Amino acid sequence: MSKSIVARSYAFRARHNLMLPTVISRLFDLVQPATEQLLHRIWSNAYLERLGINPGIKAYKSIPESEVYLVLNQQSVYFPSRMRRCIAEAVGEIIRSQYKRKLCFEAITKVLQSIDLKQDLNTLVQQVAYTLEKFYNQKFKWNMIRQTLQLIRRWVLKYKLDIWNLEYINLVKPKAGKNFLTYGPDDNQVLKYMKSRRYIHLELKIPKIAVPQSPKDWIWRKERLDIPLKLRPRIRASKRQRPFRPHLRLLKLKNGLQVPIFQFSWPLAKVTLNYEYYSKKRVLAVDLGLVNPATSVVCEAGLQLSTPFFLSANQRRLHYIERCYTQITQLQHKLTKYPEIHTKQAKRQRELERIHAKLQRCRQQDVYQLVNQLLKQATLYGCTTIAIEDLRFYTPPKGMSKLSRKLSNWIRGLFKAILESKAKQHGLQIIAVNPAYTSSYCPRCSKKGLKIREPGFKWVDTKGRYFYCPHCYYCADRDYVGALNIYRVYRALQRSTKKQKYTISTARPVFYKKMVSPPNRPGGKPHVTT
Ligand SMILES: [Zn+2]
Repeated sequence: MSKSIVARSYAFRARHNLMLPTVISRLFDLVQPATEQLLHRIWSNAYLERLGINPGIKAYKSIPESEVYLVLNQQSVYFPSRMRRCIAEAVGEIIRSQYKRKLCFEAITKVLQSIDLKQDLNTLVQQVAYTLEKFYNQKFKWNMIRQTLQLIRRWVLKYKLDIWNLEYINLVKPKAGKNFLTYGPDDNQVLKYMKSRRYIHLELKIPKIAVPQSPKDWIWRKERLDIPLKLRPRIRASKRQRPFRPHLRLLKLKNGLQVPIFQFSWPLAKVTLNYEYYSKKRVLAVDLGLVNPATSVVCEAGLQLSTPFFLSANQRRLHYIERCYTQITQLQHKLTKYPEIHTKQAKRQRELERIHAKLQRCRQQDVYQLVNQLLKQATLYGCTTIAIEDLRFYTPPKGMSKLSRKLSNWIRGLFKAILESKAKQHGLQIIAVNPAYTSSYCPRCSKKGLKIREPGFKWVDTKGRYFYCPHCYYCADRDYVGALNIYRVYRALQRSTKKQKYTISTARPVFYKKMVSPPNRPGGKPHVTT
């Protein structure tokens, strides 16, 4: 029995009922203004304290139901009490999240008088975090300090506010999330849901007309959500039959369509592999590169079992990223060229920040894609371990700034974090190995080889994409050779003792056995333990 339970959130899209988007949008037309008005009404120090101090208690219990009301077109709207509790809960959660920010703000104002606000933001954050921890013994998340400081800088430098004599609640006016509702804070009251093998059956309380006046104007409506195939065994195995607090969102697409999304958070059992079937240690060896983001090969007991898989980069995407960089260089050039008081400088600064944020999102998306593909391959071929190069050793090639920035510090850290956490969920082991010389030694005979431009060429080309071994005449793509050598290093590490240090030139060669096909028999699939 595995005790570790991972709660993850899954979004289900309602597909069966074509009328539902209209109905949900009508619901949000009522809920949205009611939430905003309630938030505005009770935004005070008293509520901040009351909600913030007891984070365990449901928020709606601290907010009286009578506070929730809405007047539309001079008619007062009737909300069923369970709906009012939903709205109160949503508002309570917003206020609760502001409580920590308020504490952070108050702590920062204490130390700020002795610190210069105009200096670089990162240094400022560092200084404030250090002072708070050392002299006041208060610790906040780095990002929260950063965001609060950004706010304070705007207030002080731009609007010339005297923040030391103002209170947090007067400075900040929080906003309600758009088209987002915490459903059913009191379980099963406003949204009844039942789970069967394949579906989640819902019953929603929704308004019949635009401005409901009495209980009669609200009805229950049935809806059915499909549980995706890959989730079913995990849900079946999890001990808790019901998901946690659902959320309802209305997604507005660019083409004008509205899609209601129900988001459930499930506490699911961890997936571990069926080790009887995978008796031998099967490894997915991965070489990370700049031209091909990843090249992988399945190996087991010193033998190579599959042909290489090349994950190639999306060319359009690369062009797009390059274009972003061109824009950045141009903007930076202009920012240094003109004096700071120049009229367009502020606009340029904003534009620069926007492009940086865009790039960051882009890269984050790429990293997620890469990790998902690697894990998919590993589970499909029944690997229990992923051997990957240790990114700490990575040094970008000299004179290739265009390529090297694709693997910046930030992205490497992110890649590592995501791969490790996701592999844990899949029950896979990640082993990092030193990638030194992995693309210059022959995986078949362990001798040193050459880099060439294309197969058939016999002269050395240091920028060539191919590897050629003059001893056994083995010739292959460099990334592929890199992946095989990563496996050799991994195997040597498993066998090596403290006395006997391995070198890549003495590690055992890997031979090609035969291609394995992905196991699709019932026993071959990842097995879920309960
Ligand atoms: Zn060779």
